[in-house]
Formats: sequence, structure tokens, C-alpha cells
Amino acid sequence: MSFTEAPRVALGHWPTPLERMDRLRAELGCRPRLWIKRDDCSGLATGGNKTRKLEFLIGAAQAAGATTVMTFGALQSNHARQTAAAAVRHGLACELILTRRVRYTGPSFEAGGNVLLDAVLGASLHIAEDADHAARLARGRKRAIEAAGGRVYTIPAGGSNVTGGLGYVAAAEELAAQCEAAGFHPDYLVHASSSGGTQAGLVVGSTIYLPATRVLGINTYEPDAALQEHQVRQLTQALADELSIKVRADQVRIDHRHLGEDYGLPTAAMRAAVQRLARSEGILLDPVYSGKAFAGFLSWLQEGRFDDCENVIFIHTGGTVTLPVYAADLV
Ligand SMILES: *Cc1c(COP(=O)(O)O)cnc(C)c1O
Repeated sequence: MSFTEAPRVALGHWPTPLERMDRLRAELGCRPRLWIKRDDCSGLATGGNKTRKLEFLIGAAQAAGATTVMTFGALQSNHARQTAAAAVRHGLACELILTRRVRYTGPSFEAGGNVLLDAVLGASLHIAEDADHAARLARGRKRAIEAAGGRVYTIPAGGSNVTGGLGYVAAAEELAAQCEAAGFHPDYLVHASSSGGTQAGLVVGSTIYLPATRVLGINTYEPDAALQEHQVRQLTQALADELSIKVRADQVRIDHRHLGEDYGLPTAAMRAAVQRLARSEGILLDPVYSGKAFAGFLSWLQEGRFDDCENVIFIHTGGTVTLPVYAADLV
């Protein structure tokens, strides 16, 4: 199959901008030109990378005759907020099962940021204490909705399955056209990697549209490096199989050094990276994903690992809504 044949709905503002970071480059005195792909500006309810996945996931939900989409995430899930908005745009009800998974406390962690926006968007919110509780809540809601004549389409956490991954295959096609128009070929794409759909889509998509470009995911989720590698490789392979594309295991590159203690817990390098991009280019990152990923991007530049590159692109995957939630750890 080709990704252009999959059911798809319109949700985002495409193409998202591809911008130069010349001030940051001058500040760092680094060799490659630095670019940022603004998927934080995807246009759906404060934006982010899930918009691309949801174009295909909501398309599949509609094709399946769903009345309701159900999805999962941590309390401050950007994916949950984007799903709530995407459902509204296409006339579907939305059930969010959010788990208290992150050991972070603060006045707005339970009710501000994405949780507030989920409620504003009219999603039905269910808070779980752990994974078992979340599964029980999901079963109960599904039964109740189906008993009332509805049909539930379940989207995995992060929208990361083969269907969602198609969104980042499409992103690679979009980016290839932008790079060609700007007259360069990117040596590297660097981004935050968590549930793996973004990386799987970019690896498969770059194999098709940007074959000389390497993809580097910065692990922002899983303390067990081997497990993260396994999961991202598995999803990448499944997506490649779906599109009849050949990928090698070594195309999935992950740097695990920037996660810190765990998912959702701030690091000093994250804070420095958020401040650095804000104060050099006026661009806001987020504390959970793109801030840690940008810390990784800066470390690769400072370690000289991009010294043989002409152009490197950081993909800003969104999440800025949670900046105020982490106020105590940002300044
Ligand atoms: C979900 C998310 C990611 C990670 O994308 P995956 O496809 O889950 O790996 C990165 N950045 C932000 C802001 C996100 O919300």
C-alpha cells in the first residue's frame, strides 16, 4: 500500500514552517547550518506532532464507523489534548484515560496545562492510578458506550501504531519538498522520541524521500534503553512492511543520555536548553519532550558529532502548553 491511499482527514496547517537558527549557530560557532521544523505550529489546539498522526487515525476511525474515539496517556499528555480537538473537528466523542504515571507535583500538574484544555475541549476525562486501573476504566467505558449504541475506536497511547506512523511518513515528504525549495539536503533530523511513532514514520519516510538523511531520536520516555530500542525498531519494521519499504535496524538511532531520572521529570540540561533556544531564537520548547531532545541536539553539536554535516534539522514536536505546569523548574 502507499500512504496516500490510507483514509485521512484534514486537521493541520501544512506545511509547517522550516526556519533557520542563525543566531544560535553564531552563538555556538558550529559548522553545520541549523534548522528547526516547526511542528509545534501544526495548528490544532496549540499544535504538536500528534496532529500528523491523528489525520490518519481519525480517518481510520471514520472509516470504521466510530462514534467515539478513546485514547490513553499520562496526565499531561499532549496526545490526549490533540485527540480531544481532532475528535471535535470531525464530530466524534472523545474518551481520555489519563494515568498518574509521572512523579511530579505542582499546583497545576493535576488540573492545569493539557488537563485543563482537555476539559475545555469537552473530552470525557477518566483519571487512573496505574496501568491496570486504566485498563479497567477503558473496558467499563467501552461497554457502556456500546450498550448505548455507540461504536468506540481505540487509539493507542501517543497514537503510535502503523496508522499513526503514516503521519510522519507524510512529514518526511513535506520536509523533502521544503529542503529542495531551500536548496539543501539535510544530513540529520533530530527529534524527541517517546512512543516511537514519530521516529518510525521519519525513518521510513526518509528512506523514501530523503535517502541520504539520518534520523536521530532522543529518548524522552523509557529508562530501559534496550526496551525503547526494541519497541521503536518493531514499530519501524511494521510500518516499513505495510508500505513495502526496506529498512535496516541501524537506521533507528537513539541517544538515551538525556532522559534524566524518568519520563516527565525535569533535568538541568532541559532547563538550559529551553532557556537557550528561547533566548537565542525566541522559540519555546517544552519541558517533557522537545526540551530534553534539544539538550541532546546541543550535546551532539558541542561534542562535534555533526562536524561533517552541512545542514541539520531539529524537529520541534510541540508541547509548549506544559511550560507553565513546570514553572518551578524553568527559571
Ligand atoms: C508525543 C510527543 C513526542 C514523542 O513522539 P512519539 O511519536 O510518541 O515518539 C515528542 N514531543 C511531544 C511534544 C510529544 O507530545
